[in-house]
Amino acid sequence: MNLMPEFRCHRPASLDEAVKLKSGLPASRFLGGGTDLLVNLRRGLGEPSDLIDLGGIADYASIRRADGALWLGAGVTLAELARRAELAADYPALVKAVLAVAGPTHRASATLGGNLCQDTRCIFYNQRDWWREGNGFCLKYKGDRCHVVVKSDRCYATYHGDVAPVLIALGAEAAILGPGGMRRVAIETLYREDGASYLTLAADEALAAVVLPPAAGRRVGYEKARVRDTVDFPLAGVAVALRREGEAIAELRVAITGTNSAPLLVPTADLVGKPWDEASAKALDDVLRKTANVLRTTVTGAKYRRRALHRMTRSLIDGLWNPAAQA
Ligand SMILES: Cc1cc2nc3c(=O)[nH]c(=O)nc-3n(C[C@H](O)[C@H](O)[C@H](O)COP(=O)(O)OP(=O)(O)OC[C@H]3O[C@@H](n4cnc5c(N)ncnc54)[C@H](O)[C@@H]3O)c2cc1C
Repeated sequence: MNLMPEFRCHRPASLDEAVKLKSGLPASRFLGGGTDLLVNLRRGLGEPSDLIDLGGIADYASIRRADGALWLGAGVTLAELARRAELAADYPALVKAVLAVAGPTHRASATLGGNLCQDTRCIFYNQRDWWREGNGFCLKYKGDRCHVVVKSDRCYATYHGDVAPVLIALGAEAAILGPGGMRRVAIETLYREDGASYLTLAADEALAAVVLPPAAGRRVGYEKARVRDTVDFPLAGVAVALRREGEAIAELRVAITGTNSAPLLVPTADLVGKPWDEASAKALDDVLRKTANVLRTTVTGAKYRRRALHRMTRSLIDGLWNPAAQA
């Protein structure tokens, strides 16, 4: 580990103040629980001039109901999300994903905002500075080429967050605060398929909250593949929200993580109105193959991660379609 680089630290009292500070400090970073950012800084991955610690902002860490939706402040810790009875009752898959993030000590300080905005990862990036230098650095930071796809002009580092896919499957929105005020977007549009520039947030915007729509009769699940069950990022992960009407799929939202530079919503519109049978499973498998782009970004082989993704998706939907058969 490197020594922590020098930076100034600010503790604004409101998110408005935090956003104003960020506008005037182009080389600054927001700080949530620090379980992603501080680890990376100790590895020499970044030299911010200033950290803007969001931990002192009271209403940033609140949970409230408004117009039937549940507003989760981006500063709520993952441990707090896992404790909340209203989430356990209406959004159990979200709680499952939250509890699958790292270990209990991480979740005690890790925030929802930090989880969604966490950095992308790659075996050529999450390394010590001297290792990276010996390799000529890489496109994501300090270098000019990607070692995963050598002739590429973009970085293929992978997004490995657990919470985003469930929020995408649930149709949640991100409330974003910038100098011009608040805007709301679907969670999936927070991201872009570029490992070096994976967030669509402007430099002076902060994620303020996540807006969860009512659970609305959907069955929702999340599965992740990992090597160590105690603490491990998803090597591949999938969230599914399914609404069944009789023998037909009334709604199907499938979101994946750990495979691409962004968590992605898989296109499933063609399956709506059909039964969940072998033909539908095959059609979804084909779409999944076209959407997921598993590359050599982790120590675990890409082939295993690809297979795990397909297998998990099939068994998750089988179980949601017919919970009695699975029990
Ligand atoms: C050993 C280990 C295992 C881990 N395992 C997992 C895992 O299994 N699954 C998983 O999902 N993650 C995992 N993580 C990553 C990390 O711990 C979690 O994602 C955590 O939720 C990050 O939250 P944080 O508040 O600590 O983020 P921070 O480290 O504070 O911030 C992360 C990033 O988000 C930005 N940010 C924070 N808040 C905002 C905001 N409001 N608006 C805009 N940008 C913001 C920061 O600038 C930073 O770039 C692991 C980390 C470690 C060290």
